[in-house]
Amino acid sequence: MNFAYSENQQMIAQMVKDFGRKHIQPHMMEWDENQIFPIGLFEKMGELGLMGILVPQEYGGAGLSYPEYVTALTEISSIDGSIGLSMAAHNSLCTNHILTFGNEHQKQKYLPGLASGKQIGAWALTEPNTGSDAMRMKTTAIKEGNNWILNGNKQWITHGKSANIMVVLVRTGDLLDSKGITAFIVERGNPGLKAGKKENKLGMRASETTEVIFEDCKVSDENILGEVGEGFIQAMKILDGGRISIASLGLGIAKGAYQAALKYAKEREQFGKPISKFQGIAFKLADMATKIQAGELLTYLAADLKQKGLNCTRQSAEAKYFTSEAAVEISTDAVQIFGGYGYTKDYPAEKYYRDSKLCTIGEGTSEIQKIVIAREILQ
Ligand SMILES: Cc1cc2nc3c(=O)[nH]c(=O)nc-3n(C[C@H](O)[C@H](O)[C@H](O)COP(=O)(O)OP(=O)(O)OC[C@H]3O[C@@H](n4cnc5c(N)ncnc54)[C@H](O)[C@@H]3O)c2cc1C
Repeated sequence: MNFAYSENQQMIAQMVKDFGRKHIQPHMMEWDENQIFPIGLFEKMGELGLMGILVPQEYGGAGLSYPEYVTALTEISSIDGSIGLSMAAHNSLCTNHILTFGNEHQKQKYLPGLASGKQIGAWALTEPNTGSDAMRMKTTAIKEGNNWILNGNKQWITHGKSANIMVVLVRTGDLLDSKGITAFIVERGNPGLKAGKKENKLGMRASETTEVIFEDCKVSDENILGEVGEGFIQAMKILDGGRISIASLGLGIAKGAYQAALKYAKEREQFGKPISKFQGIAFKLADMATKIQAGELLTYLAADLKQKGLNCTRQSAEAKYFTSEAAVEISTDAVQIFGGYGYTKDYPAEKYYRDSKLCTIGEGTSEIQKIVIAREILQ
């Protein structure tokens, strides 16, 4: 067991920190306030390899490992959770689905553009009436010659409007049949693909979230990922990796909130001494630091298993559940440590607090993670 960052992870962390300082920090409150999705930023991130982290170099990616992905995503999220969420959806959902289940032609066609950040990816599973219970999805694909006609609505889709390439899970068989769902690639510009309402969110406001509408959307047989009927099983495998992403996102937000609160607690004086000297504040900092260490260990354990190709369903759910809840607790404590200033947009605590809540909801709520963990323990 080696608990230290590798030399490569140290370099990645420093590179992302420098990038964030220059290209994210000066603009992030404006993006947040006005819900601006900074699409040009992702091309710059692509130049650093951050949009195709897990993609092998032969397809234009950085060819890095899962633990290195966790390092990069945690660092970005410690600066701005919105950018972390978009990076996560692009890398570990859309791109990784094509990398894992695409054929050679699909990989050559789509991965280089996605890895460059010039093309943005989306992954559409959730519908207005089926979130946790995704198996009951209503969007259908009906076969017509060599094509399929998609009809229905997807909800809460990250990059639902701006994505160039979308992996979409739709029903091709009977309701509740786990072999009744298929994954398709749909390209932007398809006349049957439209973006609906853009959500006005509590946090993660620079990450675009929209409804997606399929109206007689024609896609060819060539756009099927894997085989007809494999979509649900593919989605569950992709979510194992996706949960490591959200764990990293939560970890990054928790770290950002903690570091800001630690600095402030040492500087802010009340009753003639820094507030960090009061046990009530010092204990909060001790709790925050301990939860971050624990979350980090769980997240890197899941990433290590995933990298080795071992089953990580339980570990990725544990990492996601723990770090998401910890991110909410830690950012709440950070607001408290900042006092009245923590309640304003002049200080960073309130944004961490708003952004953190998504982690307990996206890619399976905390309750669903507990169901997954319990199932793994009890089986
Ligand atoms: C900002 C954002 C970005 C997102 N991006 C994407 C994306 O890119 N692609 C995509 O496909 N989806 C995306 N989602 C959707 C997200 O994955 C779902 O919101 C999530 O899975 C929960 O589904 P739901 O919102 O329908 O809640 P529901 O499933 O309706 O759940 C409501 C509540 O009931 C609880 N609950 C449900 N079932 C059970 C049960 N069996 N036992 C106990 N409690 C239960 C839940 O935990 C929750 O507290 C995104 C969501 C958000 C907010």
